[in-house]
Amino acid sequence: MKVDKDALAFIRRLQKSVPVNIEAIAAVLGLTVWESSRLPEGIAGKLKRDIENGGPSQFSIIVRAQDPLVRKRFTVAHELAHYLLHRHLFTDELVDDALYRSTLKTSVEAEANSFAADLLMPRHLLEQYPGKSIQELAFLFKVSEQAMGIRLDTLPIQLKSMSNEPLSV
Ligand SMILES: [Zn+2]
Repeated sequence: MKVDKDALAFIRRLQKSVPVNIEAIAAVLGLTVWESSRLPEGIAGKLKRDIENGGPSQFSIIVRAQDPLVRKRFTVAHELAHYLLHRHLFTDELVDDALYRSTLKTSVEAEANSFAADLLMPRHLLEQYPGKSIQELAFLFKVSEQAMGIRLDTLPIQLKSMSNEPLSV
């Protein structure tokens, strides 16, 4: 499933500065985000068809209330990725464990993680902070250092070895 152009345009409009407001992106796409203190420790969150409370999309995202903020933000982004890319692959709800594994294939989960990273750490915003460490970038983007490390590893080399000069592109 491809993300439709309108959804991408809404997302880009909300990726003008850091930290990316992931809840605003969920809201503009018509999803409701809930925090639940009743999700077990091994569960990061879920995406649920929710006609009653799900908002215009009729989908809700539920994240584990006790998780650190950076983790909740990543879970929202990950579930949004499932909504945008994979909602034809499950019926009522999709539950992700703490390692973002679900009933979906590993390759589908990897796709959701990579899309989530694009949502929270878009390349055009990373390019505005040349020369910053992973720790500094993680703080600015409100993501975990682990998530930022993985993101930088998957971007082309020139971004990783940026000097303090602004990129000319
Ligand atoms: Zn997942």
